[in-house]
Amino acid sequence: MNENKRTAMGDKPDVFNLSCPLPLRDHATVQLAHGGGGRFMRELIEGMFLPAFADGRPKDPPHDSAVVEIGGARLAFTTDTFVVRPLFFPGGDIGKLAVYGTVNDLAMSGARPLYLSAAFVLEEGLPMETLRRVVESMRTAAREVGVQIITGDTKVVDRGKGDGIFVNTAGIGLAPPGIEISPRRVAVGDAVLVSGDLGRHGMAVMSVREGLGFQSALESDCASLAGLVEAMLAGGGDLHCLRDLTRGGLAAALNEIAMDSRVGIELEEAAIPVSEAVASACELLGLDPLYVANEGRLVAFAPAGEAERLLQIMRSHVAAPGAAIVGRVTAEHSGTVELRGRLGGNRIVDLLSGEQMPRIC
Ligand code: MG
Repeated sequence: MNENKRTAMGDKPDVFNLSCPLPLRDHATVQLAHGGGGRFMRELIEGMFLPAFADGRPKDPPHDSAVVEIGGARLAFTTDTFVVRPLFFPGGDIGKLAVYGTVNDLAMSGARPLYLSAAFVLEEGLPMETLRRVVESMRTAAREVGVQIITGDTKVVDRGKGDGIFVNTAGIGLAPPGIEISPRRVAVGDAVLVSGDLGRHGMAVMSVREGLGFQSALESDCASLAGLVEAMLAGGGDLHCLRDLTRGGLAAALNEIAMDSRVGIELEEAAIPVSEAVASACELLGLDPLYVANEGRLVAFAPAGEAERLLQIMRSHVAAPGAAIVGRVTAEHSGTVELRGRLGGNRIVDLLSGEQMPRIC
């Protein structure tokens, strides 16, 4: 098991607490929340997977992809499984997600994505035309990003024992020498930037799933972030850490980094971009956009002195015209995320037990 592996086991464990793994709560069976990117999933990884596979202790804080050195080359390696329901939603589909999701996890290490695998779990009775649409979508996404799908697997389960299509993709990318983008490098004083407005993927999926009337205004942000990261790296600044915002939204990503990097993170509510459509949909459903899933957004950590220049690079890229500086890293309240509200009050943005919305990616 390599040092900074995370994704093959689901998500990020708290590397500093592994000598005393969190007890698995009293669950005799797996709950939906165990796959939700929140506290339950963290407990499952720390209580079951890490002790089994990583001798309980990766050397580095876990990240979106593992970086291993093989024959002088630094390879990023990651895997992700997609179970979104419905298979097609405004702005995307499970095939597009499966390509972009894995490409984005590779990009978060600064790697150039190169090769993917594609494994399908299909349910008996699935219309061949549905499968064809998903495969076509994967082909288009892979071509756009410049990755090749070079290996794969097909399994079929009995009618009623699956849900149409589940897809797993694993990916390999080449990390440039001398570039280290990792939670380990997050430092007090760093600026926190997001690449655009939050919550569109989650709300676009919810809108069709719940049959709500606002879907016309909402499209998933589902997109590759590889080109954006390449532009950010080409800018020459010192990027400390990147993380794509998926399940659990900005809140989950920042909580993980605050815990793993043992820092505090302070957010300015007024600076966090949320579209009108997402804000009203969230209000209607009683959801907080900070916790809603994205599939084409990242959070970046960089020294405060470089933040403005980085912001301009991001804004001039097609994937991040709405980028914003939303907060900073502090020495206070280590391991937690605090939000400074529009009206001046502060509140803790905690890690949820599960996800607000299961099967969102
Ligand atoms: Mg990720």
